[in-house]
Amino acid sequence: MTNSEFEQVVDEDQGAEEELSFESMKLDEPIVKALGEMGFEKPTPIQTRTYESVMAGRDVIAMAQTGTGKTAAFGIPLVHKVDPERRDVFALILTPTRELALQVTREVSQIGRHRGVRTAAIYGGASFTNQVKEIQSGVQIIAGTPGRVLDHIRRGTIRFEKLGVVVLDEADEMLSMGFEKEISEIIDGLPKKKQMLLFSATIPDDIRRLSSRYMGQADVISVSGDEVAAKDVTHYMYLVSGTNRPVDLVRVIEAERPESSLVFCNTRDETQTVARYLKKAGYNAAWINSDLSQNDREKVMSSIREGKIDFLVATDVAARGIDVSHLSHVINYAFPESLEGYIHRTGRTGRAGRAGVAVSLVTPQDIGNLYYLRLTYKLDLVERTLPKEETIRRKIELERIDQLRDRFGDASVGEFYGLAARVMHDAYAMKIVAGLLEEFFEGAEIEEQSLEAIDVIGIPKEVDEELEGEEIVTPVHLEAEPIAEEEVEPERSEVPIEAAHEPEEAELETAPVDGGDEAQAGREDEGEENEIYVDAGRKDGLRISHLMKEIVRLTGLPRTSLGRVRMLTRSTFIQVSDEHFDKVLDAVAKIEFHGRALKAEPAQQP
Ligand code: ADP
Ligand code: MG
Repeated sequence: MTNSEFEQVVDEDQGAEEELSFESMKLDEPIVKALGEMGFEKPTPIQTRTYESVMAGRDVIAMAQTGTGKTAAFGIPLVHKVDPERRDVFALILTPTRELALQVTREVSQIGRHRGVRTAAIYGGASFTNQVKEIQSGVQIIAGTPGRVLDHIRRGTIRFEKLGVVVLDEADEMLSMGFEKEISEIIDGLPKKKQMLLFSATIPDDIRRLSSRYMGQADVISVSGDEVAAKDVTHYMYLVSGTNRPVDLVRVIEAERPESSLVFCNTRDETQTVARYLKKAGYNAAWINSDLSQNDREKVMSSIREGKIDFLVATDVAARGIDVSHLSHVINYAFPESLEGYIHRTGRTGRAGRAGVAVSLVTPQDIGNLYYLRLTYKLDLVERTLPKEETIRRKIELERIDQLRDRFGDASVGEFYGLAARVMHDAYAMKIVAGLLEEFFEGAEIEEQSLEAIDVIGIPKEVDEELEGEEIVTPVHLEAEPIAEEEVEPERSEVPIEAAHEPEEAELETAPVDGGDEAQAGREDEGEENEIYVDAGRKDGLRISHLMKEIVRLTGLPRTSLGRVRMLTRSTFIQVSDEHFDKVLDAVAKIEFHGRALKAEPAQQP
C-alpha cells in the first residue's frame, strides 16, 4: 500500500462532528449502566468516530494518541457483540505488555459486568495451568500478549474456531517490540472470516505493511493531533545546556510545581540516578525500569496508584501503556529519541477528560526534533525559562502564605489574639514571626531530610523500602516538635516546659544510618518504654503538636508521661511507658482525623 492510497481512505473528519452520547449509540442497557458506573459520561472522539464501522463489522485502523480511550473504543462494541450464552472465544485482543493485557481485561470486564461477559488475561510469567483452566471455563474475550497466546495455540489449549474479532491494541508498540512474527503466525491461524481492528497511537511503516497484508478494505480513522493533544495536554519546554540535568530538573520542578509526575529517561541507569537525586532534593520519588522484577514493578505500580509516590522515574519500555492517568505531569528529563516516543510519553498525562501538562528539558541537540514534531504532529512546545532563584522563592512564599491561611484563617480568635497584636508591634516582631514560621515549616522538613539521607546513603533497594512504606523500621529516632507552652491545655500548664523541649537535632545528626544497635543502646536506659504505631503521618497533614494535645486531653496524663514522638511520612510512633501504654493506645484510637478514627497499635519491636 503506497502512501497516497493510504491517505485516500483516511477519514480525518466526518463532516459536522455529531455529538454522540452513549444513549444514542443504541447500546444494551447493561452496557450503558456499566459505563455510567465507570464514570464515563460521553464517548471520546475516537470512540465516537470508530463506533459505526466497528459495529458494522468492518475492518478498522484507528489512530489516536495515548490516553484518548482506545480501549473502550473497541471494548464497548465487543461487549455489545458478544453472546454471553456462548462458551467459546469470540474476541482476541493482542497487547504489547502484560500490564496492558491486564488493564484491557479489567476495562472490558467492567464494561461487560452487567452483561455476564467473561474475560481472561493471558500473558507470560504467569501460571500456564491456571490460564488453561480459566480458558476452559468458557471465556468470550481474551486479552493477551502475542508470545503467550501463541504458546497456547501451539499447545492446543486455546481454540479460535468461533472467533469473530481480533484486535491489535497499541499496534505500533507491539511491532516496535518485535512481535511482528508472532502476530502474523497468530493471525494466520485464525478463521479467515473475521473482523480485524487495529488501534495505535502512530502508524509507522511496519503497521502499513501488516495491515495491507491482513486487512483488505479497512476504514482508516484518525483523530488528529491537534484535536486531542492541544485540547488535553499543554506542552512546555525549557532550554537547558544538558551538562547538569539533575540540577536543571529540580529547578524545572520547582518552577512548575507539579503535584505528581512521570519523569522519562532514555536509559535505565538514568532512572535510578534521577530518582535518587529527586529524593535528595526532598521529593517522594521511585524508579521503574525493565531491570526490576515483575513483582517489584507491580509493587511500584500499586504504590503509585495508592498515591504513595509522587514522582515516578521511568524508561519508555517500563512505562508502556501503563495507566497512570492521575499523574498531572509528564516530564521529559531526556528528550525522546523518536517523535513517536514523544507522542507516547506525553499521552501518559491528561487522559480522557482531564488536563495534563508535558514538560521537556530540551538541549541544543534536540532542536531538530522539535521542528519535526511541529511539522508532523502540529505540536508546538511553548518555551518557558527557568525562573531566577528569587522568583522561585517568591512562589514558595506565596504558597506558604496560602498554607497558613488555610490552616489558621478560620481559627477562632481566642486568647492569643491579644498576644498576636502585641507581637506585631514589638520591636522584634519580624524576628519573632520569622522564628515561629521557621518552627512551623522547618520542623517537618528536618524529619523528611533525615529520612532521605538514610535512603540515599545506605539502603540498596530503595524502591522496596519506599513501597513497604517501611522507612518506619529504620531505627532512627526523631524528636518530637517542642510543644509550645500555649499548645498544652491550660489546666495542664503545670507541665514543666523543659520537659517538652527535648534536644532536637543533635540526635538526628548522630543517628546511625546502617545498624540499629547504637540507636537501641541509646534507648535502653529509658526502661520500660514501648512504642505505639499510628497510621497517619506528616503527609496526611497530622501534626505532632495536635496529636499530643489530643492525647493529653483524652487521657488527662501530663505531656511528660509521653516519650519521644517520631512522625514519618505516613505514620507516627509514640513512645509510652508500660504503665500508661493501654490508656494512650485507647486514646489515640479515639482521635478523629480527617473524618476517620486514627488506627493505633503496639509497634513491632525493632
Ligand atoms: P488509550 O488506549 O487511547 O491510551 P485508554 O483506553 O487507556 O487510552 O483510556 C485512558 C483513560 O481514559 C482510561 O483510564 C479510561 O478508563 C478513560 N476513559 C476512556 N473512555 C472514557 C470516556 N468516554 N469517558 C471518561 N473516561 C474514559
Ligand atoms: Mg490503549
